[in-house]
Amino acid sequence: MSNMDIANPSEEHLMLREMVREWTQENVEPQAHEHDRDEKFNLELLRSMGELGLLGISAPEEYGGAGLDAVACTIVHEELSASDPGFALAYLAHSMLFVNNLAYNGTEEQKARILPKVCSGEWIGAMAMSEPDAGTDVLGLGTSAVQQDDGTWLLNGRKMWITNGCIDEEGTPADVVWVYAKTGEDERGRVQLSTFLVEAGMPGYSVGQKIYDKTGMRASNTAELVFDDCIVPEANLVGDVGQSLLHMMGNLELERLTLAAMALGIGRRALDEMNRYATDRVAFNAPIREFGQIQRYIGESWAKYRAMRAYIYDTANNLTIGTSGQRLDSDGVKLFATTAAKEIADAAMQVMGGYGYVGEYHVERLWRDAKLLEIGGGTLESHQKNITRDLFKDGEAINR
Ligand SMILES: Cc1cc2nc3c(=O)[nH]c(=O)nc-3n(C[C@H](O)[C@H](O)[C@H](O)COP(=O)(O)OP(=O)(O)OC[C@H]3O[C@@H](n4cnc5c(N)ncnc54)[C@H](O)[C@@H]3O)c2cc1C
Repeated sequence: MSNMDIANPSEEHLMLREMVREWTQENVEPQAHEHDRDEKFNLELLRSMGELGLLGISAPEEYGGAGLDAVACTIVHEELSASDPGFALAYLAHSMLFVNNLAYNGTEEQKARILPKVCSGEWIGAMAMSEPDAGTDVLGLGTSAVQQDDGTWLLNGRKMWITNGCIDEEGTPADVVWVYAKTGEDERGRVQLSTFLVEAGMPGYSVGQKIYDKTGMRASNTAELVFDDCIVPEANLVGDVGQSLLHMMGNLELERLTLAAMALGIGRRALDEMNRYATDRVAFNAPIREFGQIQRYIGESWAKYRAMRAYIYDTANNLTIGTSGQRLDSDGVKLFATTAAKEIADAAMQVMGGYGYVGEYHVERLWRDAKLLEIGGGTLESHQKNITRDLFKDGEAINR
């Protein structure tokens, strides 16, 4: 019999999982309910992950990162999310959307200057793509950047829904933001995107508002960011002017995989809660797990959980960070796992009856948090669209 475990393909992966699980149990689990209830982001806890080497998990070691692969990224997101998806989302925005992007697409000078700060937790990073009037339709974004005679860039526009956009209740903006802006059009009239590293203190960069009253992910801060004649030094342009679509697409693949990993953590935890409850809860003189209708919830949840786990880690094992072209499966895992997680959390609430409906028993929070994963980082509909488009280009993917 084979001992192959795709979720822990090496001894190092297994050790990483054990370390993160233990740390999460001790540090993340005890604060999860309270931070969700109070809509508070645990900034210090995120910073402290720098000491564990997890903030720069995929960044090169020479800049303070851990230099690990997509499977390692998946493991950390799964483990954090099993306790606190809101906190895991803040971690994702920092380590995947900012740090990984910079590590793979920044210039040597930018990496040397900024990576050590974000890998240690001294600086908190964010990524700003979405806008009040443009989400899925990314090429419809309105934020513009115009180069001045002295070489600096002038940014104007608003970014919406930015995780870690503000880092406290006082409206302090993220220390550094990866901002996508329009810098022109090509000869066919298509919008050209460029990336700018905007740092706290740069004139014209501020928080418009912290967004309150979210359904879930309330332990992460979501903000509107304002760029009002924001002056960005020439050295903070990432890559070549107008060439950002490529690295945006590459980074989206890792983002979608790790969002799916968060769904996996939610599914696992919800299943665990419902399974234990079904043994302990007695009705009509029998543990409720003896009832066929409860068995359907548990049985179907197990199968969904195992299917998402297999697909997610299969994709993670095949995803090379820093390359693009794996969108079929990064969209596929997110499409499948996010809805599966929501359904498992829903089943858990049903199995747990009234207790499932209150915060102390965790699953209602997981249920609320799971919903965001069907929207953020690409909606279900965008994944359906991408998959269908990619299978038009490469129908043979089905038979390989
Ligand atoms: C809590 C939270 C955190 C977030 N964090 C970040 C972040 O850190 N950085 C960032 O840049 N963004 C972030 N986002 C934004 C998120 O990525 C967008 O909300 C998402 O991409 C959808 O964009 P939208 O909200 O503008 O909806 P829209 O794009 O306007 O979509 C509305 C509806 O229309 C559908 N639709 C749109 N186009 C099509 C089409 N061609 N075919 C079929 N259906 C279509 C959509 O699927 C959806 O159902 C976050 C959002 C939330 C809620």
